[in-house]
Amino acid sequence: MPLGLVADATEKFATVDMQRLLRVQALSLQTEGAGGALVRLMNAPRDNRVLEYADVDERNRRIDGIMESLKEELHDPAQEETLKRLETARAIYGEAFLATVDQVEAEEPAAAAILLNQQVNPAIKAMLVESNALLNRERQRIENQLKESQQLIARIAITAGGFSLLVIAMAVGLAWRTTKSVVVPLAELEAAAQRIAAGDYHGHLLTTRTEEVDRVGHALNTMTRAIAARELEIERLAFRDPLTDLPNRTYLLKTGAATVSDPNGIASTGLSLLLFDLARLKAINETLGFGTGDTLIKEVAMRAQAVVMSGFAAQSPGLPIPGSTPALLSHISGGKFAIVLGSSDRAVTEQLRQHVVDAMVHPVQCSGHSVDLTLVFGLADVLPGDATPAITLLRNAEVALDSAKQAAKGFNWYNPALEAARLSHLGLLSDLRIAVAESQLQMWLQPKFSLQTGMAVGLEALVRWQHPTRGFVSPAEFVPFAEKTGAITLVTDWMLEQALATLQGWTRTHPHLSISVNVSTRDLQDSNFCQRVKARMQHFGIVPGKLRLEIVESGLMQDAQSSIAVLHRLRDAGVELSIDDFGTGYSSLAYLQQLPVSELKIDRSFVTDIDSKPGSLQLTKTMIEMGHGMGLMVTAEGIETAAERNTLSQLGCDVMQGYFGSRPLFGAQLQEWLTGGQATSA
Ligand code: C2E
Ligand code: MG
Ligand code: MG
Repeated sequence: MPLGLVADATEKFATVDMQRLLRVQALSLQTEGAGGALVRLMNAPRDNRVLEYADVDERNRRIDGIMESLKEELHDPAQEETLKRLETARAIYGEAFLATVDQVEAEEPAAAAILLNQQVNPAIKAMLVESNALLNRERQRIENQLKESQQLIARIAITAGGFSLLVIAMAVGLAWRTTKSVVVPLAELEAAAQRIAAGDYHGHLLTTRTEEVDRVGHALNTMTRAIAARELEIERLAFRDPLTDLPNRTYLLKTGAATVSDPNGIASTGLSLLLFDLARLKAINETLGFGTGDTLIKEVAMRAQAVVMSGFAAQSPGLPIPGSTPALLSHISGGKFAIVLGSSDRAVTEQLRQHVVDAMVHPVQCSGHSVDLTLVFGLADVLPGDATPAITLLRNAEVALDSAKQAAKGFNWYNPALEAARLSHLGLLSDLRIAVAESQLQMWLQPKFSLQTGMAVGLEALVRWQHPTRGFVSPAEFVPFAEKTGAITLVTDWMLEQALATLQGWTRTHPHLSISVNVSTRDLQDSNFCQRVKARMQHFGIVPGKLRLEIVESGLMQDAQSSIAVLHRLRDAGVELSIDDFGTGYSSLAYLQQLPVSELKIDRSFVTDIDSKPGSLQLTKTMIEMGHGMGLMVTAEGIETAAERNTLSQLGCDVMQGYFGSRPLFGAQLQEWLTGGQATSA
């Protein structure tokens, strides 16, 4: 406790040593003063002596008091010796003093002076010598003590210096430890946070020996895992189709773009894109429900994926491509899928297409129905080294798919001529408006005959377009495009006008004949359509039952509920209604029963070669029975041969239409037929 020692020494010095020193000093002063006081007493007149006595007595008393206290305080043997000598000198002084005072009182100044000089002064001198000795020794002692204290302080300073160094060393150590246990891990945490911010979730923070930092690190690890999982989920949602769990269009374009633009990647072998669509999905959704539609999409996805995964090319050893040709199936939208194939060999692509088609051969059983999976394909390719963006490849395949649908083919390859045809269709649409205005359109009429009597019962109005520069344009070519853009309503209005005018002309000559006009779904969506038909019928004075409207089955189901409402209004206005191309739209029986139609026209695809196709025969038989069960007149479309006519007649079909009965007629041919008794040409 060096600091405690210093404090004790300082306190002792102040309270004991210095007090004693002062007392010793006072002793010398009082002793000197006592001599002086005695001299003043001797020289004072008698009357003043009392005061001088008091002064001398006081000094003597003080000298005695100081000596008494010093006797108790001084334990140093040398000082004790000095003090004893001082006492002796005091005793001598005391006696000499009393003797001198006696002489003063006896009024013997000379004797008093002798005593003063010979006894008192030597005694006082002796006292002063001893008291000075005491004083010197005390001073010496105090000086020694001060030196010791200084040495002690110096020692303390050195100790304190060492201690400071130790403290500094400890601080450095602590700082190093802090750096190691806090700053370094914190820096790691910071680096980890930056890695997370940059999207790297793979680093895992190791534990340190600092609990708080570990807790933060642990939280960061948990957060990283959570973010990584969430990001995976986001990526899955962004790039996967939730229904089929296949990659989606975005993924196809993203990865497709990478491979197409990489000259060393798949692009060096070329690429093909097989885009395919599940036919009649919209109609299925609306009649059998979206659940059924979803089931079919999932079934197609599963079967197509199985083909892609099975390394299809290996099944054909004749082809130069090994079994591992990379192929990626993705779901584009609705019933549309795409396969990117790492080969531009058309034989391989078509082989893959065939495998996919084969995989769809068995119908799907859902909601109590057996539904066929019919696919239409659009194929497009990129030759090795070609820098075609993925989006362009996909668009090309779309063009090919559209043209395959138009041509009612199973597939079509993209070629630039299709593009030109597409553009020319766009041109056609603007021409169509002019055609309506300038009467380039013609209404041809194809007779329908009763299969029981062979007599004509009515005619179907078919539009023909004599284009001034392109020549004859088939309705199969422009009607679907006109339907897409809504321009079909111009055609419908024009045809209605022609049909009603014709019926008006026949009122007296051919009152038993009806005319059927084809209307599109776009017409049914027009809220004024029914009103327009009614107004025109009144204008031409047409009685109920003479005008028929044909609506294709698949179109009817595009907007099923609102179609039903419009059809009811039309029927109420005296218009007869027919379902056209029946058998191609997968209408449910329940839905058909709600339709106020009076005729079912069985599609040509069932009629063709019916006499030699038991499958078609069975289906057609069922359709006819179903139609009759619902009280409908059943017409067979596209009868070209006597065998077909006979078969349908035997099946109980009511009406026939087709080249066998008559081709569509116009102008003079029509007049000839009308005046010739409206018999069949066969
Ligand atoms: P659709 O309504 O089913 O008309 C029957 C189509 O089959 C007509 O073709 C007709 O010429 C053709 N056809 C009739 N009998 C036979 C046959 O024995 N064998 C063959 N191979 N074909 C036969 P078209 O006139 O080319 O019309 C095609 C389709 O265009 C029509 O099919 C109809 O959906 C549509 N269409 C025609 N005219 C109009 C119209 O004025 N308005 C609307 N919206 N669509 C129309
Ligand atoms: Mg028709
Ligand atoms: Mg038809």
